[in-house]
Amino acid sequence: MIPQDFVDQLLSRVDIVDVVDRYVPLKKAGQNYLACCPFHKEKSPSFTVSPSKQFYHCFGCGAHGSAIGFVMEYQGLGFVDAVRLLAEGIGMQVPQEKVANPEASRKARERQMSLEEAMQLAAGYYKQQLKSAPNAIAYLKGRGVTGEVAARFGLGYAPGDWQNLQAVFPQYQDDKLADAGLVIVNEEKGQRYDRFRDRVMFPIRNQRGAIIGFGGRVMGKGEPKYLNSPETPLFEKGRELYGLYEARQSIREKNRVLVVEGYMDVVALSQYGIAYAVATLGTATTGDHVRKLLRHADQVYYCFDGDNAGRKAAWRALENSLPQLQDGKSLNFLFLPSEHDPDSYVREFGAEAFEKLLEEQSLPLSAYFTRELTGRVDMNTPEGRADLIRQASPLLAQIAAPALGFIIRKRLAELAGIDVDEFDMLTTGKPRPERKGKREYRLPEESHRQIHTPIIRKQIKWLLMNPAWAGDVRLPDSVPLSDELACFAMLAESVQEHDQPPNTAQLLEGLRGTPYEGMIDSILQQAMQDQDEFADPGEDDRTQFQDGNEKLMKMLREAQLERLKLKDRQEGLTPEEKALFRELLKELLGASN
Ligand SMILES: [Zn+2]
Repeated sequence: MIPQDFVDQLLSRVDIVDVVDRYVPLKKAGQNYLACCPFHKEKSPSFTVSPSKQFYHCFGCGAHGSAIGFVMEYQGLGFVDAVRLLAEGIGMQVPQEKVANPEASRKARERQMSLEEAMQLAAGYYKQQLKSAPNAIAYLKGRGVTGEVAARFGLGYAPGDWQNLQAVFPQYQDDKLADAGLVIVNEEKGQRYDRFRDRVMFPIRNQRGAIIGFGGRVMGKGEPKYLNSPETPLFEKGRELYGLYEARQSIREKNRVLVVEGYMDVVALSQYGIAYAVATLGTATTGDHVRKLLRHADQVYYCFDGDNAGRKAAWRALENSLPQLQDGKSLNFLFLPSEHDPDSYVREFGAEAFEKLLEEQSLPLSAYFTRELTGRVDMNTPEGRADLIRQASPLLAQIAAPALGFIIRKRLAELAGIDVDEFDMLTTGKPRPERKGKREYRLPEESHRQIHTPIIRKQIKWLLMNPAWAGDVRLPDSVPLSDELACFAMLAESVQEHDQPPNTAQLLEGLRGTPYEGMIDSILQQAMQDQDEFADPGEDDRTQFQDGNEKLMKMLREAQLERLKLKDRQEGLTPEEKALFRELLKELLGASN
């Protein structure tokens, strides 16, 4: 762990404008700097860097962060490496994990390097072996793969013997071979042997292009069909996508990315001219994957086999996509005819037919969502339609894109035979403003959270952009804090812990790895709609923030009062609660004067 103090210091000494400008030339525009976004394809610049906040935000794709975040994203580095790179650039010494053990952390860093070197060396060896492996060559040729495409993906072959890698690693006993996942050690028998034997080898690269793992595919009948490197210090399956490095240019050009299940699919599609495909690495599509995909293109297509396993995988992908959705981006699901995978389909019918299928047969997420849910219940009975609402609620609550979320709710409401207000009330417990008279329907705990969410999120955004305003934040002691409210309180407190108000970048880096990280991420994605959000605030803005706090206080007190009233009716109040009730009432009356 790098101490937070050091991260703070680092961020006060590096200038994000210099850092970004090294990779992406910036142009001054008013208080800020602009460029075309390096994380998505665009023609007019919406990638904005604020020197006063030391923070960047892309108003096109929503990418944002500090100088550290930028280096991580752009260079594909981990947090520690990004900090180290920035610190070295300005001659700061990164403190060691424990002063007692500087040697260990240096070794850990060297090991990281040497793991990458080991992977590189192994990839070179496998590539070499392919040349003298007629069976593997025949396999690839049989799939239409030319030498050129094999070279682009660095394909290789692991021979069938048990210790092939000894040829390039004379120190076959070296721990790093096991750490890199190249060798399997059987402690009991004291044996070690190559993980990959008699397989076509697909090197997996990270965003920098460094090889971090391998996928090996059997050529005949054997199991498993695909064998992956295990998780190693270099390789985290839930974050990486096979082929992303190779496909980047084409993804940008087409503004489209296709997600398939196997490496061979990626290579075959590329061979036939569809160069924007990537594959997950034997895991379900994760939220991290989706975020990464949406950074690269506005249109994401998931392609699944039409069988049962494919359908399950598709639904998992949908579930993990919901919290990542953004209006203006589209996610689509294509199910291939059950006898096909993308590899076989494109070989049989060609690229044009495949793209036609993609464009005409894919279901947008909204349609797939509705079709799947209505298919699970009997829509002809009230019980079935009620069950639809029950099953849809938790999923709908996760949809991050407001407009798309509304459209889906509206469609489901239609299908259930009620109007969308009623539907919302049933699924979120949130009464529409004009329906105040029906308040008794709502669930007290839930309503408290739901009602205030938009205003709290707005206050959080203001505070993030202007940490110096933390002194304005007051929250009633009597209200339990959870979710966004807890986040808001925590931000204000964390500013107060600093001697000087931190800038946006410092404030945000303090949240890295905390449960609030994802919440803040989504708040910024939604709240930052145009460049004005980024301009230095005027007096009016400050007043708005203060008004917002007042409003929030008032709503919280009201909600608290409602709860107490309800409890009074149902089971009665304790003397403390009665006192609190009077206190709240007094404050509310005082505040409205
Ligand atoms: Zn962008």
